[in-house]
Formats: sequence, C-alpha cells, structure tokens
Amino acid sequence: QPVLAVVGRPNVGKSTLVNRILGSRQAVVQDVPGVTRDRVAYDANWRGRQFTLVDTGGWLAKAQGLAAQVAEQAEIAVGLADAVLFVVDARVGATDEDEAVARVLRRAGKPVVLVANKVDDARSEADAQSLWSLGLGEPIMVSAMHGRGSGDMLDLALEALPEAPPERMGEGGPRRVALIGRPNVGKSSLLNKLAGEQRAVVDSVAGTTRDPVDELIELGGTTWRFVDTAGIRRRFRESQGADYYATLRTQSALDRAEVAVVLIDASEPLTEQDLRILTMVTEAGRALVIAYNKWDLTDQERRDYLEAEIDRQLYHVRWAPRVNISASTGRHVERLVPAIEQALDGWEQRISTGQLNAWLNALIAATPPPLRGGKQPRVLFATQAGTKPPHFVLFTTGFLEETYRRFIERKLREEFGFAGTPVKLTMRLRE
Ligand code: GDP
Repeated sequence: QPVLAVVGRPNVGKSTLVNRILGSRQAVVQDVPGVTRDRVAYDANWRGRQFTLVDTGGWLAKAQGLAAQVAEQAEIAVGLADAVLFVVDARVGATDEDEAVARVLRRAGKPVVLVANKVDDARSEADAQSLWSLGLGEPIMVSAMHGRGSGDMLDLALEALPEAPPERMGEGGPRRVALIGRPNVGKSSLLNKLAGEQRAVVDSVAGTTRDPVDELIELGGTTWRFVDTAGIRRRFRESQGADYYATLRTQSALDRAEVAVVLIDASEPLTEQDLRILTMVTEAGRALVIAYNKWDLTDQERRDYLEAEIDRQLYHVRWAPRVNISASTGRHVERLVPAIEQALDGWEQRISTGQLNAWLNALIAATPPPLRGGKQPRVLFATQAGTKPPHFVLFTTGFLEETYRRFIERKLREEFGFAGTPVKLTMRLRE
C-alpha cells in the first residue's frame, strides 16, 4: 500500500486536511503545536485507490528552532513516503519555516503536491499565487475546512503514487490445500480417507503444465481443492534421487496451494526432512497446519516425549494449529477442516492501520528498541502492506535489531492472533 505523507509547519491545517481526506470515519486530534499525537497513520481511500495517509504533525522533536524542527519532520516524511502533501497557509504566505521545508522537499526529489490551504474564498486566491516562490510548482488551492479543492488535490497526489502490485494468484474457486510430508508419513492414506469416507470425490482436475492432478473433495460442507495429488497417488519408487523428486513435488504443490497440511509421523522422532518441509512452507509464505499422523502407534511415553520435541524443535512454527490424527483409524481426521479454516483466516487477516499503530505506540513506549550506535531508533509508524501472508512494514529512523523485530512479531501474535500463518515484518529505514 503506497504511503502519502502530510507535512507542514504547525497551524497550517494539516489535521483538518487529514480529517477531510479520511471523511468522518476517523477523528483526529486538533493541530496543537508541540502536542504529540499518538496516532499518525491511517488507511485512506480515494476513487477506489487504497493508500496509507501519514500525519507527520506529531514528530516535531529535538532540533533547535521551529524551522529546523519542521525541516527534520519533512526529512523523515520524504524518507518514508511515496509522495508528499506539503501544506502551506495561503493567507500567511511562505514563511521561513515553509522555505526550510521546501528546500528539503526540492532536494529529495519525491513527488510533492503543494497545497495552498485556507483558500476559503476568491479573495485568498491571489494570496495563493505567491506560493509559486517555493519552487515546487503550482500551488493547489484548497480549503480543508470547507472541502474546496481537496478532490483535485487528491487526484494529483494519487497520480504520483505507485500502483499497487497485482494479486499473485487467481481468486475464487475452492480453497487450495497441499498435503505434504516425507515419504511413508501417510499422505496417500489420509487422502484416501478424506476422499473415501466423505463419499464425495467430486472430480479429478487435470492441469496443463507439469501435469498436476488436483482432487476436489467435499469436507464439512465445503469443497476443497487438494493440489498436485498425482505424486501422492502415483507412488514414486525411484530409489536414487527419490529425495530430489519428493522435494520438487513438495515445492510444486506449495506453489499452487494457499494452505499446507504438513504430515509428521508421531510414532517416530522428528527428522531433518520434516524440518526442511516446514521451512519450505514458511518460505513459500503459505498458511500451515501440522498434522501428527499415526497417533494410534504412540504410547504415553512417546506422547510425553513428543511434547518436549515440539517445544524444542518446532518453536519457529509454534503458531501453527496442530491436530493429532490417525489416517488408518480415522481418529480426529474431522478436526483437520477447522484447523485449515483457522490457518486461512490468519493468512488473510488484516489489521487497520489505526488499530495497528495505537497498539504499536503503546508497545514501543513500554519497551523501546535497544540503542544502536548510541542512538535511539524511532519507530514512526507501521502499516500492513499485504495479506497472504500478512506483511507488515515498520517505518523507522534507525535499524531495529533482529531480536527486537522478533519481539514485535511475538507481541503482534499475542495481540492479534495470526494463528496458522507466517508473518513478514520488514523495515523501511531512514538513517
Ligand atoms: P505416503 O508415502 O506419505 O503417501 O504414506 P502412505 O499413505 O503410503 O503410508 C505409509 C505407510 O504408513 C502405509 O503402510 C500406511 O498403511 C501406514 N499408515 C499411514 N497412516 C497411518 C496411521 O495413521 N496409522 C498407522 N498405524 N499406519 C499408518
């Protein structure tokens, strides 16, 4: 989601303009000089385009003198935004502070829309013309208070924003499930159980490339598409290179799936190959359900040991829903569908930018990031850039240590869930 930042010195009407852009949905605190707002980023929408609107008014900090402060604020804004709305009070004209901001913006070379605000009537239009002197092109006349001109201003701003990337996979149709796991873990037994017992193999769907065969199976009143089942049905007997083909097949199934059910043999110790397959799922960014199969072969001792094994070796995927099943007896196989649904929900979950930042500000206030080179990195705001899997971008003024990013991810999961899905957390840095 592209980012549009609103900059300008205090009292030019930034908050009023932000309110105007957001409509009545989200209220913003008034533009009081020196008062730090706790919410700075919002989801906005104009003519069907989604973008993140950032109100930089709360960032005035540290630097000496108002001109230096607003210049610093502008520096931060251009560092993180894709385009900038620079708000100037047309009735006052260009001040020293405005000049300082304009210098920063001209140097940065990011798209800027110069907003001449408080043009409430025809008389102020002449005042607005003087703002050409800022060297940022035509001043767009706006009255944030009355709404005048704000549509044209947004049209110009959105023209400057980059297009959102298209969705990667086709939407619609049955959800796509990959049943994967190392050889002999019980994939074909489970597939047969699911297809047979429900008596609802709808169809076999032959694809075109690489001849993957999908099976449509009705479970819990819903049709699911089990992808690339040819490899499961048609046993690979190659002794040489069997591993290689198994990996290839797993990757091809993951490419086409939304959610992976990874089968693990509960009766045997976890193997390297199990871990490798789990890593393939998280790296592919797919939703994940872990199914411990052959539960009928486990005794109490094995089960106790299993818990410890999971805590120790599967810590990195502890968020995945887990079901203990037996493909041969059918034990708890019906629990797979709710687990898959839960994982897909997490995979598609979206948190509003306002909600995310309210939470994040509180978290960071309580536990600030560790110093880096003697300096305190600031997390300015965050936005969820995408889903499938959820992807968060943190806009910061310094590098955040890996441990701190993991801390944020852990807290994010505690607060918002995201069960069954990997979560991507990236930084956009302005050193
Ligand atoms: P695949 O290679 O992953 O498709 O594994 P298969 O489905 O061919 O199963 C391998 C072997 O494990 C077969 O002999 C199955 O009968 C057996 N098996 C599969 N699931 C279970 C289970 O839940 N319990 C027990 N006891 N055996 C199972």
